[in-house]
Amino acid sequence: MMRFALAGNPNSGKTTLFNGLTGSTAHVGNWPGVTVDKKEGTYKKCPEPIAIVDLPGIYSLSPYTPEEVISRNFILDEKPDCVINIVDATNLERNLYLSTQILEIDVPMVIALNMIDEVEKSGDLLEAKKLEEKIGVPVVEISALKGRGLDELMKRAYEASQNPRKGRTVLEGTSIVHLIGDCKIALEGQKVDNALFHAVKLVELDELEVKAHPDSARMVEEFKKTFEDDTFGCDFDAIIADARYKYITKNYSSALVKKDKSDVLTRSDKIDRVLTHKFWGIPIFLVILFALFHLTFSENLLFLGAALPEGWVALEGTVLEGVFGDGGINSPGVVLFNLLDLATSSLGGVISDAMVGAEVAEWAVGLVCDGMLGGVFAVLSFLPQILLLFLFFSILEDSGYMARVAFILDRIFRKFGLSGRAFMPMIMGFGCSVPAMVNTRTLADEKERIATIRVIPFFSCGAKLPILTAIAGGIGLTFGLPHTDLITYGMYVVGIVVAICAVLIMRSTTMKGEVPPFIMELPTYHAPQFKNLMIHLWDKAKHFVQKAFTIILASTIVIWFISHFSWSWTYLPDEQINDSILAGVGKLLQPLFTPLGFGSQIGAFGWVFVVAAITGLIAKENVIATFGTLAGCITAGFVADESLEGIDAVASMIGATEIGVPALIAFIVFNMLTIPCFAAVATAKAELGKKKFNMTLVFWVVTSYVVASMFYLVGQWWWTMFIFLAVWALLFALVILNNKGKIDLDKVNPKRLIKQFRRK
Ligand code: GDP
Ligand code: MG
Repeated sequence: MMRFALAGNPNSGKTTLFNGLTGSTAHVGNWPGVTVDKKEGTYKKCPEPIAIVDLPGIYSLSPYTPEEVISRNFILDEKPDCVINIVDATNLERNLYLSTQILEIDVPMVIALNMIDEVEKSGDLLEAKKLEEKIGVPVVEISALKGRGLDELMKRAYEASQNPRKGRTVLEGTSIVHLIGDCKIALEGQKVDNALFHAVKLVELDELEVKAHPDSARMVEEFKKTFEDDTFGCDFDAIIADARYKYITKNYSSALVKKDKSDVLTRSDKIDRVLTHKFWGIPIFLVILFALFHLTFSENLLFLGAALPEGWVALEGTVLEGVFGDGGINSPGVVLFNLLDLATSSLGGVISDAMVGAEVAEWAVGLVCDGMLGGVFAVLSFLPQILLLFLFFSILEDSGYMARVAFILDRIFRKFGLSGRAFMPMIMGFGCSVPAMVNTRTLADEKERIATIRVIPFFSCGAKLPILTAIAGGIGLTFGLPHTDLITYGMYVVGIVVAICAVLIMRSTTMKGEVPPFIMELPTYHAPQFKNLMIHLWDKAKHFVQKAFTIILASTIVIWFISHFSWSWTYLPDEQINDSILAGVGKLLQPLFTPLGFGSQIGAFGWVFVVAAITGLIAKENVIATFGTLAGCITAGFVADESLEGIDAVASMIGATEIGVPALIAFIVFNMLTIPCFAAVATAKAELGKKKFNMTLVFWVVTSYVVASMFYLVGQWWWTMFIFLAVWALLFALVILNNKGKIDLDKVNPKRLIKQFRRK
């Protein structure tokens, strides 16, 4: 099958075009660096089917980050039949910089002038024909978003792919053209493919190239000693970049008629004046974040609670009583949660009644109702809140706001040894650690990347949300505490704070390194695309539900069996659960968790917390699913009603074990910070390499253990706080002393700075 590659700057619309051509639903984000690995799909409307490959965004073919290497190698080594170079027409000058480099490769190419709708809206006039004449490859105007011009683009690309194209360079008139020619001849002598392209990169003394062709590189170095350009001395790199830009300006300016708008601020500029304000930017972000969490978790919307008249919802006595709140208005997230909870518990009731009515054996009723349904429903009921939170984040991302947040946070991140770029993977971590860890490939500094991968699980993911909410809810139900949503927020904050401290320590001890300058183009704001949002949500929902009915279901069945059979494999009724295999294992490990509050000190059923934490290593939802599965046997008598969904299951566990609040908080903290689920562990392993990965496992275990026991001890005996404060102060003092004068986190390698500016 023929293969066309999509190459272009980050955020130029490659994935949108990819989805439009192939009918896929890959993630589109108004954020540079969303696609970090290549993806393939098929276009069917040409005379023969064509594989379309979506590549990570690149500014130039001199790679700085792992994702950029992926794109470059694909174009050079895999020899696609055509490269579709997608160009953001609202940003021609910068985008064509890459085009002039692809032009040097011996590969058929067409330029897709994307976002033509934006150009028209701004009143500018762009003539593709003129540009085509100047550049010498087909140029097609398209709008990937509106689906305009796609067939024309593919028609031209198909035509182009039928004939080979020889690379040509735009550096003809420069002072180094002879040097490039000599290098090219030398490389051709060595039978190197794409000799022209490699020759130019050699003259730039591109790192990869110098490594690949050391002999020719020496030739360039020799030549350099005798060379002097009027403006740039012997900085070949600069001469070439300058020549490319000169060529671009000369040729595209005749194709573009700009409407005069020197005195109007664009809408995005106006919004940015407020949202990226020097002082207000961060407070505004925090308020927005709080609002999102409030809309998802609060049972007392806008804190109106006390102001509401008694019986504000006229639903008393109906099944819907309490769904919309009692004592305060429930947030949309909680309302949806309650509705689903109502549905699943009635369904569970119907099924168990039917089974009992049909006189099914007692153990089978237990397995299906307590074991399977109890576990799966306990997890599923959190789906609405996960989706809502995810929807809010998608809106922020698609509108272009998240890119601004990275920008305003860069100043603060820098103090911790990170660049603003690390913000995106972290925010993605709230959804799922797996894509978040992959996304760290956008970070240029390897050590920054390692440190970021390690702390990503601390940004509590969707699967951990049931743990947070169910335990917070259980605490509220049992101890009569109001505002359990504040416990949930608090736990998110704990994760973030621990992540910051960990990064700070790592970046000034084992993971020292320069923080690359953060230069990112801010995308224009636009209204979030409904279709995009729905695609994101659908993906998330599908994944979550699939997981609930596969991994989680399988785990709950296993848990049920090993909690109802003894070592001699005889069936045990509910009351004898303490003699089961599961209990045996749990009790064996229990002492380990004594410093965390859920070890030897809690009652007969205390082992349940230990096994729940262990099942969480498979999937974090399992923690609550395990409570759901076991609650049926343990609790008879501790909860008023039959429903054993998440929160009630936890409340009943609290009743049965008499565990205290500090230990429960420590339990959340431990689960949040410890080794993440299977999938995240596998991803970390793939991204980190073996040695770093092993250290990372140790790091997760130690961090979770230490921080969780700190929470327990301080909660139980408040004065221990002073001991911890002293230890932490000492630790930080040591780190600072150790680094005094040695490193400066703000330090930036000047050469790199120039290069990064140049690619803008
Ligand atoms: P990628 O990073 O190159 O893969 O870019 P994406 O496909 O993720 O798109 C980046 C942003 O540009 C998204 O917000 C898209 O909705 C938007 N976008 C893509 N194509 C067009 C277009 O033709 N017109 C407009 N106005 N926006 C577009
Ligand atoms: Mg993309």
